[in-house]
Amino acid sequence: MNNENWIIIGAGAAGLCAAITLGRAGEKVLLLEQNSKIGKKILVSGNGKCNIGNRYINLNRFHGQNFAFMKEVLEGYPFESVEKFFTSIGLELVEGKEGKMFPMSMQASSVVELLEYEAKKVGVNILCDCTVNAVDKEGKYFTVMTTKGNKTCEKLLLSCGSPAAPQLGGSNSGYAFATNMGHSLIPRYPSLVQLCSEETWVKRCAGVKVPGIASLYANGEYISEKKGDLLFTNYGISGLAILDLSREVSTRLANFDYCELSLDLMPELSKEKLTNLLLGRVQKESEKPIGLWLQGIIHKKLIDIIIEQSRCKVRVEEQLNRKEINKLVHTIKNLKLSICDSKGFKGAEVATGGIDTTEVNADTLESKIVPNLFLAGEILDVDGDRGGFNFHFAWVCGLRLKS
Ligand SMILES: Cc1cc2nc3c(=O)[nH]c(=O)nc-3n(C[C@H](O)[C@H](O)[C@H](O)COP(=O)(O)OP(=O)(O)OC[C@H]3O[C@@H](n4cnc5c(N)ncnc54)[C@H](O)[C@@H]3O)c2cc1C
Repeated sequence: MNNENWIIIGAGAAGLCAAITLGRAGEKVLLLEQNSKIGKKILVSGNGKCNIGNRYINLNRFHGQNFAFMKEVLEGYPFESVEKFFTSIGLELVEGKEGKMFPMSMQASSVVELLEYEAKKVGVNILCDCTVNAVDKEGKYFTVMTTKGNKTCEKLLLSCGSPAAPQLGGSNSGYAFATNMGHSLIPRYPSLVQLCSEETWVKRCAGVKVPGIASLYANGEYISEKKGDLLFTNYGISGLAILDLSREVSTRLANFDYCELSLDLMPELSKEKLTNLLLGRVQKESEKPIGLWLQGIIHKKLIDIIIEQSRCKVRVEEQLNRKEINKLVHTIKNLKLSICDSKGFKGAEVATGGIDTTEVNADTLESKIVPNLFLAGEILDVDGDRGGFNFHFAWVCGLRLKS
């Protein structure tokens, strides 16, 4: 029989921060984690550097169906409050590009180790390799059924995350516990995820990365665009611009919309500038193949694809005229790639959707349906942009827990 008043299911960002907050307030906390180690997603985040948060917290970087809830949860918890928390556990932060914050050590493992040390210092009992299979409430007490026996508590926090990255512990179980107790679920889709295409040409340029702009069209209608790296792969396309666009694509695909990307492979040059550049490069009486001629300005592996897609008819430099050059320019700035799928939850950093936040008190994170049940982090219908916003939300949830 455990003697803790609180049980927290899930030792990820939200669960660890909540455990420390409650432990510091004198609460007795049992933290259950199915993995053999705590904080697996923290460990791999930011390519092992952990993009722990963002200096420029702005509500429009967060998504969910209940804007008022996100506003209320985040209000009063700017980036500085997250920074203060990390300073209090002995972790200094440094700023990277676009306000992204990292541990000064540039090692995600230092974040997890300091969180673990602090949690244990304030008396949190951490139990790894402990999967929760079911949760029940009778009278005042919750019974938490685990692979290490049944546990009981008066207050229960679900911080079990989302199905994103199942290889790191992502699961649907938190949703199941909450919905069995009467909560509703907003549909979840993979986000910050790579995209798949059935077009065969992408395989030929797999591995090529260029800075560009990806514009999304759904059923032919322009939706939005993102700037950043475009990385062609064997299955389709990835890169920062694609991850940033993927939330919208996943949602549209789920709606059976026809999704197509239009890729600008040279966003720094306007159509006119690129046309003039190419026209200025054409030499008379030159029999240089146009594939070789294009090598001076564009990645080798993209050239045949651009020539094919543009339906450029000429073969050698001296035959190039304004009409043929316009075709090439149009393709370089509007290379079309149809998207049939995403890499799913396995490839996703986060999931959209989650437990309906109209059923949760934004101040305390307590369920409005089941007294003394609390929900924190990605299990809720809130997801953020790439750049540290998802961790920010998880830390803030942890800091909001009150004894
Ligand atoms: C590869 C990758 C890189 C990322 N990089 C960044 C980044 O740089 N910056 C950023 O802001 N965000 C990043 N994210 C997103 C971020 O990791 C998540 O948004 C954040 O971890 C959510 O925190 P959480 O505590 O809600 O859930 P999680 O961190 O997912 O924690 C939930 C925990 O609950 C455990 N659990 C689930 N079910 C059970 C059960 N039944 N019994 C026991 N335990 C259970 C899981 O094993 C897990 O440890 C990244 C995600 C991935 C996958």
